[in-house]
Formats: sequence, C-alpha cells, structure tokens
Amino acid sequence: MSAEWRALHQADAEGPNDDGGPSGQASYGRVNPRGVDTTHGAILYLDGITVSFDGFKALSDLTLDIGVGELRCIIGPNGAGKTTMMDVITGKTRPTAGSAFFGQNIDLTTLNEAQIAHAGIGRKFQRPTVFEQHTVLENLELAMKTDKRVRPTLFSRLTSEQADRIAQTLALIRLTDEAYRVAGLLSHGQKQWLEIGMLLMQEPQLLLLDEPVAGMTDAETERTGELLHELRGHHSLMVVEHDMDFVSRIADGGKVTVLHEGAVLAEGTMAQVQADARVIEVYLGR
Ligand code: ADP
Ligand code: MG
Repeated sequence: MSAEWRALHQADAEGPNDDGGPSGQASYGRVNPRGVDTTHGAILYLDGITVSFDGFKALSDLTLDIGVGELRCIIGPNGAGKTTMMDVITGKTRPTAGSAFFGQNIDLTTLNEAQIAHAGIGRKFQRPTVFEQHTVLENLELAMKTDKRVRPTLFSRLTSEQADRIAQTLALIRLTDEAYRVAGLLSHGQKQWLEIGMLLMQEPQLLLLDEPVAGMTDAETERTGELLHELRGHHSLMVVEHDMDFVSRIADGGKVTVLHEGAVLAEGTMAQVQADARVIEVYLGR
C-alpha cells in the first residue's frame, strides 16, 4: 500500500479543517470534532456491558477491547450476542450496565447513532445497501459527499485528489472495471465490496463488519479476505463471521474472540480457541 494511500486514510487525525488545510487533501477526510484519543493503544473498550431484554441478558458483563489497527474476528454460535454487541457500539441499543468507549475519551453510551458514525465508527450490515440505480462511481461519490465539507452537489467536478481517492478505493474493492456499471447489475459479492468502499469514503477509524462473506461465492470470499488484509493496519476492524475457514484465513495469527451467552468464552489465536475444550463443547455439544 502506498504512503499516499496511508496519508489519505489518516488525514482526519488533525481534526476539523474546513478550508482544505495546508496539505490540501484533508478537505474530504472525516471531521472528527472531538478527536479519538488512542494513546493507550486501543480504539475500543467495552467494559462490563450488559443488555437486558425483558430480563433476558443478550449481553452479560461483556468486556473486550480492540487495538488500533487490529483486525479482530468475533465468532460464536447463533444467539451469542454478536449483533447486539455491534448494536451497542453503534448506539442502536443502550446497555443496561457497563461502559463503551471509543478511544479513551469518547463515551459511546452518551452519543446517538449519527454522532457515533460521525465520530468515526462505520458499520456494514449483512445485506448490502447501495444505490442500485446509480453507477459504482456515483455511489462512491455520494458516500464521500455526505461529508459536510464537500459541496453536496452530485456530479459536481471532483478535485484531482478526490478523483485519486475514488480510484484508489475502486482498486481496493476490485471494482475498477465496473466503475460505470449501474450498481443494481453487480453480483451480490460486488455489492458487498461496494458498500465497504462507501464506508471507506467516510474514513472510519473503526469498521464493523457483520458476516461480510455470507452468500458469496468461493472466489468472492477469497478476494474479500485479500481486501480485509489490505485494510488491516490502516483501519481497526471488527469482523463477525460464521465461516471458520474464512476466519482462520483473515485472523492470520491475530486474536479471535469467542462469544457465548453474551460474554467472552475464549480469546486467543484461532489455533488456541479451536483447541479450547469450552469452545469445542459450545460448537459440538449442541
Ligand atoms: P448473534 O448475533 O450472536 O446471533 P444476537 O445478538 O442477535 O446474537 O442475539 C442475542 C440474543 O438476544 C438472542 O437470544 C436473541 O434472541 C436476543 N435478542 C436480540 N435482540 C433482541 C430484542 N430486541 N429483544 C429481545 N431479544 C433479543
Ligand atoms: Mg447476528
């Protein structure tokens, strides 16, 4: 990955910059009014999170943290609380107890969904939601233009830096050859990549992906793995996935967290958690 690409993806570190800034390239980076403080090395801290639905605990004293630039895989049987955890991080669900911090300083439990997205947490849901009637290129342009610092006119002239950034994103999501194609005509996997690209245009510091390869062909799954490898280090990623082969591949020796009954059952490399008797029991004992 080029130094330029890295610079673009770190452009928001300096904070608000309405006039484009001295570098001239920060004008389309995400404004992060409060700035995420990650000096202690973590981008996300969940501490003692409990979520009760009419007395049933979907999350039960869940404690977890994610390092800056880490790609963390989250696995666990159906009903383990994976989606509820993402709902808490993105402000869709309020915890009954516990704390959730973005960096050391941003208390997620005090922000609404829009504020959390604006602070730099992007979420990809299972079903792709792209603008089907627009081309791939227009979709990326529209995603970029939800940034208030970019004039909200569709089809207005892009600066060369904006065009470069879109070109880089197209290459990353493997859609350069489909740039002028209407999104509705893309395959399921390509739509998923486009949605990841749209999220990236928003410069999230933390990206949450819920089952990114569900419904993909083997070839698409393979390419998604490569894509996630390329994002690693530039963004912090939390990937919830059922496909164990895929998890092994993308975890690549990194940490995997196993959720069960709303709490962390095991954490370690894929090899470690797969050898853990409690994990084997949860997966095979039912
Ligand atoms: P996962 O994503 O790991 O499959 P979920 O987070 O979707 O698990 O769900 C965890 C548990 O909480 C499940 O038993 C589910 O039925 C329950 N649950 C999730 N959302 C609600 C809700 N809004 N009301 C009641 N129960 C819920
Ligand atoms: Mg789920």
